[in-house]
Amino acid sequence: MLDPSFVERLIEIIGKEYVHSDRVSLLSYSYDATPNYQSLPELIVEPGSTEQISKMVKLCAEFSVPIVPRGSGTNLCAGTVPTKGGIVLLFNRMASILEIDDENLTATVQPGVITQTLSEEVERRNLFYPPDPGSMKISTIGGNISECSGGLRGLKYGVTKDYVLGLTAVMANGEIIQTGGKLAKDVAGYDLTKLLIGSEGTLAVITEAILKLVPKPETKKTMLALFEDIERAAQTVSDIIAARIIPATLEFLDQGTLRAVEDFTHVGLPTNMEAVLLIEQDGHAESVRQDIKRIQQICEMNGASSIQVAATDQEAEQLMTARRTALTALSRLKPTTILEDATVPRSRVAEMVRFVNEVASKYDLMICTFGHAGDGNLHPTCVTDIRNEQEMERVEQAFEEIFGKAIDLGGTITGEHGVGMMKAPYLAWKIGESGIDVMKGIKQALDPHNLLNPGKMFTENARKRIVIKS
Ligand SMILES: Cc1cc2nc3c(=O)[nH]c(=O)nc-3n(C[C@H](O)[C@H](O)[C@H](O)COP(=O)(O)OP(=O)(O)OC[C@H]3O[C@@H](n4cnc5c(N)ncnc54)[C@H](O)[C@@H]3O)c2cc1C
Repeated sequence: MLDPSFVERLIEIIGKEYVHSDRVSLLSYSYDATPNYQSLPELIVEPGSTEQISKMVKLCAEFSVPIVPRGSGTNLCAGTVPTKGGIVLLFNRMASILEIDDENLTATVQPGVITQTLSEEVERRNLFYPPDPGSMKISTIGGNISECSGGLRGLKYGVTKDYVLGLTAVMANGEIIQTGGKLAKDVAGYDLTKLLIGSEGTLAVITEAILKLVPKPETKKTMLALFEDIERAAQTVSDIIAARIIPATLEFLDQGTLRAVEDFTHVGLPTNMEAVLLIEQDGHAESVRQDIKRIQQICEMNGASSIQVAATDQEAEQLMTARRTALTALSRLKPTTILEDATVPRSRVAEMVRFVNEVASKYDLMICTFGHAGDGNLHPTCVTDIRNEQEMERVEQAFEEIFGKAIDLGGTITGEHGVGMMKAPYLAWKIGESGIDVMKGIKQALDPHNLLNPGKMFTENARKRIVIKS
């Protein structure tokens, strides 16, 4: 229960119309895109400036009220579920593109800007902001930075951290800091920009960002290659990279996903294939033409059953639809869709997909896999029903084995979705107990009273790793 004088002073700072405690608002912000996690906050707050957030955080520190920063709530790690109550902090009033600087090739934005809005705005000026998470139509830049989101273009262009040059942030004591700037080079002290990227709202509230832009590629070409077995598709991925070609997109869909997509879109995908690669290259017209020709040859060499190169933008869009609708298509199959995120070195992709299929049979589950093959970042996705408790237990055991296998193959428990609450029990598997101690030390130094997004990243119930002998 919040102290009435706290609420009174908060309203003085933020304004009555931007502080909500009605049941509908509290319920609306009690969950995010992660199935099976929910907890009620005590207040929803929509500040309008960095200064207001600074004053608000100071007040929260005085009254020990937790703060959960929240963009669009599309994270898949229960990162915005307010498990300790307190305030859910929204950025919908801080959603402006403040500047696009054509000389320095930067964009300065507030955290609530929608990723696609930024992308479209810079493309109108012949510039390019590459990070393109599948959720970009609704995700915010603040959320992308805080999760260090990747996307379909990650292989060639990198992920969000590669495009953040500077940040304005409010620390847990309410102090405002500025890191980096419109600078190509800056080694003045510790790299606080990088420290805050991917910190999942646990170290600071990000209130402004300076982002790097690049020139918009002149042209792009899209193609789809179908394979009768996963090994050949995986070998194709390795061979493309070995040929020193880095496609802008190199995505993978397995047979289960392919069937669900075809059933949903009816675009004519053959459902008897074990794997599909969706490949896009961008750049100067001539080099794109050469790369696509070479990629086609590599697909043929590896026995692709069919190769389709889009002749028009419209056809390219249709091919991309197969990948973009994967999650929607799968989520039609059962009431609950658990989209996971395990990454392995790209040379181990086929092995990992085979393992996911074995685990699915072992636990009698439907798990389909799609993802960023070029990055080795796979999304094993289980369609299930959270009302079936026995099945949910099997789902948990299956994913535990999948994360363990990813680690065994030299990979990680999450390539882009973050830790939040969901992966916290597994974090030590990746970074070890001493890694956890270092991270906890950083948290303790920056947020000693654990007010910023408490209950995330670290857990008291860490899982012991059961090593399965194969
Ligand atoms: C259909 C679908 C497709 C997806 N595809 C991808 C994908 O391709 N790649 C990928 O990486 N992810 C993907 N995601 C996951 C998700 O969309 C990303 O993590 C995204 O960056 C979250 O943005 P958001 O605005 O929804 O942030 P939220 O979910 O609201 O928040 C995410 C985290 O950031 C923190 N946060 C938000 N704003 C701030 C701020 N201003 N200051 C400090 N902390 C803050 C929150 O506390 C939370 O920990 C997908 C999700 C869905 C549902």
